[in-house]
Amino acid sequence: MDEENVVKVIQETESVSGPSDTYTFQAETRRLLDIVAQSLYSEKEVFIRELISNASDALEKLRHLFLTGTDMTEKEQSLEIHLATNEENGSFILQDYGCGMTKEELIENLGTIAQSGSKAFANKLQQRDDVEMTAENIIGQFGVGFYSAFMVADKVDVYTRSYKPNSKGYLWSSDGSGSYNIAEAEGVARGTKMIVYLKNDCKRFSLKTEVEEIIKKYSNFVGFPIFLNGVCINTIEPLWTLDPKQVTEEQHEEFYRFISHTFDKPRYHFHFKADAPLNIRSVFYIPDRAPELYGVGRMESGVSLYSRRIVIQTKSDKLLPEWLRFVRGVVDSEDIPLNLSREMLQDSALIKKLKDVLTRRIVKFLHEQSRKDRVKYEEFFKEYGVFLREGVVVTNDDHMKEDIAKLLRFESSSEKAGDLISLENYVARMKPVQKSIYYICAPSRQLAESSPYFEALKKNDVEVLYTYDDNDEMVLHQLRKFDGRNVTSAETYLSTSGESDDVDDKMSDNESLSQESSEELAKWIVNILGKQKVADVKVSHRLSSHPVMITVADMAAARRWLKIIKTAPHAEQFETMKYDIIQPTMEINPRNDVIRKLHSIMDSDPKLAKLVAEQLYDNALISAGLVNDPRPMVSRLNVLLEKVLQPL
Ligand code: ADP
Ligand code: MG
Repeated sequence: MDEENVVKVIQETESVSGPSDTYTFQAETRRLLDIVAQSLYSEKEVFIRELISNASDALEKLRHLFLTGTDMTEKEQSLEIHLATNEENGSFILQDYGCGMTKEELIENLGTIAQSGSKAFANKLQQRDDVEMTAENIIGQFGVGFYSAFMVADKVDVYTRSYKPNSKGYLWSSDGSGSYNIAEAEGVARGTKMIVYLKNDCKRFSLKTEVEEIIKKYSNFVGFPIFLNGVCINTIEPLWTLDPKQVTEEQHEEFYRFISHTFDKPRYHFHFKADAPLNIRSVFYIPDRAPELYGVGRMESGVSLYSRRIVIQTKSDKLLPEWLRFVRGVVDSEDIPLNLSREMLQDSALIKKLKDVLTRRIVKFLHEQSRKDRVKYEEFFKEYGVFLREGVVVTNDDHMKEDIAKLLRFESSSEKAGDLISLENYVARMKPVQKSIYYICAPSRQLAESSPYFEALKKNDVEVLYTYDDNDEMVLHQLRKFDGRNVTSAETYLSTSGESDDVDDKMSDNESLSQESSEELAKWIVNILGKQKVADVKVSHRLSSHPVMITVADMAAARRWLKIIKTAPHAEQFETMKYDIIQPTMEINPRNDVIRKLHSIMDSDPKLAKLVAEQLYDNALISAGLVNDPRPMVSRLNVLLEKVLQPL
């Protein structure tokens, strides 16, 4: 029995056969290496996981090449990963018989930062002032791949030979400071062998027992046999092929960390199997946090495609729509042919079908979770709501659009601040006469509630959803309909319908200007403000406390437009055209004291009346969120204050 094992122990067969050339690391890499080498990161053992994962990637790549008939020599080498610990000289060796690297690949892969994990890390380094993002934190969150070896090593030697016919062997060597050397080498087996010379305080990684424990922690998910000092120590059993009921919470956590290279716990895991219409074995994870929201740039897809346990494409962006890019996982389908090339993936009807099924299932899963544990779901929504909103906007299929919209949550006029409801909740308690779903977009709850637009609906006891996010306004605007009802902003509603069925007018007891006087005042205001500023002035019975209100045809569009021109060159120019484009209508409340007094001084003190009318108009624009810069009105306000104080 020993004899068999001995054969499998890593042998020393390599020797340098040519001159050694020195190369400098790319600046970004150098910076990253500095941080990695000095880091106090406590879980240094992850370097083993990173190296094993690279070995496994290299073997997967080779196996895939075999199966798709790529021409190569030395097929007989077994697809295995070998590790050896050498306590005597304090080293750790890892060898795979995978695809290996050519000299160009060595320079590209181990000299620059190409891969996503270390790229995110490097981006993050640019903003070191971020308190939360210590080096330790970053290593934990994003993983730094191969470079993590320098957390524990004084020096790393990499012997490698590519699978490509006639490839030479090389030795890549570095101490992780500014440069590395590459020399030709003899006796290099196809694949890669890494010798990690451990730092003094990291010698524990040359202890067999220690390393064995670490490998066991991660190796359950490696699809190749792993030998430690000649003995195979893992069982190859892909988690996604198991019966969902048999997989424990801990296994999911480990597997999630394994595929996502992180250390957090997933918020949700979803193990999904199907046999029809497609064969699917899959497992999905939603990370605790969405890195994208913490300034690391757009997340890449993190779902890999397998067929019969063989990887077809890692981190495929074809399996899920972009808005689900925060999902991590594995999809295995027997229906996918192994030789499906990247180009074919692009427009394969099968992949489209698969994507469709998976998207539906994930959306359904989230629905189920929202019912199962509301608090947990709302936490998820706070972190990931922005992706769901994107989903509503970009999805063309109306059914799907509504299904995603069901996942959104809003504050509402019928709930306490902080409590959220869904569109379904809203619809379920709509009054029979009410035809639309109303929302109001304002920077805060307080502003939403003091808005004249809200007042009109509140008066009639109509529930209104509050959105504090500009994106929400766009999302609801885009959604248009939900459950057969129009989704309407309070403002748009008021401007397009006259006195409506929903909002039946309840007059307050306040004394009102007569209809005749009101209309007289309205005409006077049009004259004073000029047609250029106001398209029309109307007498309205929809307001209770506010003297006036501005309505425009599409308030959301008007606000967006104003936002854009704010930063445009020659913004002043637009400022003068503003009213022509928005075409505001002003509604006046004949029961309001200011309006009544305005009517009474309109002839006796036209100067003051003009100032008041102009100020009312500006106030209404501010309430509507249609003023980019309120400063120009300050001098008028000062004149008004002076008049107020004059009698004193
Ligand atoms: P990642 O694995 O995310 O791409 P790494 O920093 O872990 O990033 O590795 C960088 C690159 O080096 C890999 O993409 C691969 O091309 C190459 N590489 C690393 N280890 C091996 C190996 N054992 N065999 C072949 N190529 C490897
Ligand atoms: Mg890697």
